[in-house]
Amino acid sequence: MKIDKSAALYKKALDLMPGGVSSPVRAFKSVGGTPLFMKKGAGSILTDEDGNEFIDYCMSWGPLILGHADPDVIGAIVDAAQSGTSFGTPNRFEVELAALVTARMPSMEKVRFVSSGTEAVMSALRLARGYTGKDRIVKCDGCYHGHADHMLVAGGSGLATFGTPDSAGVTQGNARDTIVVPFNDLDRLEDVFKKERGQIAAFILEPVPCNYSLIPPFENTMYYYSTSCPDSADPAINTCFKSDGYLAAVRRLCDEYGVLLVFDEVITGFRLAPGGAQEFFGVKADITTFGKIIGGGLPVGAYGASREIMAKVAPDGPVYQAGTLSGNPLAMSAGIATLKKLESIKAYAHLDELAAEFRTMLAPALRKHEGRLLFLQMGSIFAFYFTAGPAVLSLDDVKACDMKLFARFHAQMLGRGVYLSPSGYEVGFLSTAHSGRELEATARAVSESLDAIL
Ligand SMILES: *Cc1c(COP(=O)(O)O)cnc(C)c1O
Repeated sequence: MKIDKSAALYKKALDLMPGGVSSPVRAFKSVGGTPLFMKKGAGSILTDEDGNEFIDYCMSWGPLILGHADPDVIGAIVDAAQSGTSFGTPNRFEVELAALVTARMPSMEKVRFVSSGTEAVMSALRLARGYTGKDRIVKCDGCYHGHADHMLVAGGSGLATFGTPDSAGVTQGNARDTIVVPFNDLDRLEDVFKKERGQIAAFILEPVPCNYSLIPPFENTMYYYSTSCPDSADPAINTCFKSDGYLAAVRRLCDEYGVLLVFDEVITGFRLAPGGAQEFFGVKADITTFGKIIGGGLPVGAYGASREIMAKVAPDGPVYQAGTLSGNPLAMSAGIATLKKLESIKAYAHLDELAAEFRTMLAPALRKHEGRLLFLQMGSIFAFYFTAGPAVLSLDDVKACDMKLFARFHAQMLGRGVYLSPSGYEVGFLSTAHSGRELEATARAVSESLDAIL
């Protein structure tokens, strides 16, 4: 593969930008090699500066559920741009998107638009604190919520309750009010709720953790592998759909201890179902955050809740939060076009079909290498794990995966024209633009790549 132009750009970028990138994972540090500089996206295909074409499964890390440069989304952006790129005033697009979002999310009566997922989470947690008058936030180890200071906190060692800064520049003070618990562990959560009774404003989690690979929310392994998995007869492929396990229990615990439940649906929102993970699993959050798909590929985030909770947000209430470009007409238009099209083309049924086709195509290769890797899929989200373990349900299970092997797999796939997210800790996304033929080519590439490295 010729990568002269990407290599030259990378060299220049390294001189001008930290790591040569605008976001760390793009630097290919965990897979090695030169990050490719893309110049064009169309449907499921990415083209780099050297003219190499790839079937893309990173999809800009999730927003592009309709594929790159969807004509309806682009049309909406162009139309909006012709009337001005920003007004700094209210506009009709915000009202339209707010109506579309709240109609899909029964737990959300009002919404505030911001410009990124990070901002949505940061604001949602300020709101949770402002509403409850309590300071502490509980989060799950391995869940990513953007880069706000009080979310860049890792679990303390052993049974230590309070977190430790997970980045230079985050203060002990920031970490002190964040308590970290393991995902899928109800006992630890209840311990913390008991010990800190009356101090906790909110419990925030990704209902399906997608940023430390893909961890399904179940409270025990047996449940995950037996009753809930239609494909559980095939240990190489496990597809999980619904459960009334961990998330429903979390909801009950939050109610019992008076803690607000915040679902960070920046990835799962409009991805797992029109109503996100809340619809998919039948569990309602008190406050919800969005990003990624809601902006249709433009920078947007949002948070929302009941009227009562949202009444605390400025200018109605005392919780301050603002944004120069919030509710931007281009970004709102891209979001509107995306949500409308997802409905009009019955995208979720189509994505489920694609996902089923994909795992059927992958099955022979996965079976051949059984015991070396797992493939996990939830709706249109998937992940490859190089592990002998029968399941990946916790951070420790993810840590046991062979990331060096993933790096080799990634390079093999890239060489065969498939662009996976450049880290084994990230997931892959199907879009409605992926065709059966492209999935077949991908399955072939997976099979050849696995043969090459295992
Ligand atoms: C991507 C992501 C964020 C951060 O969103 P940005 O737009 O990158 O700031 C927050 N939470 C989750 C679950 C995410 O996947």
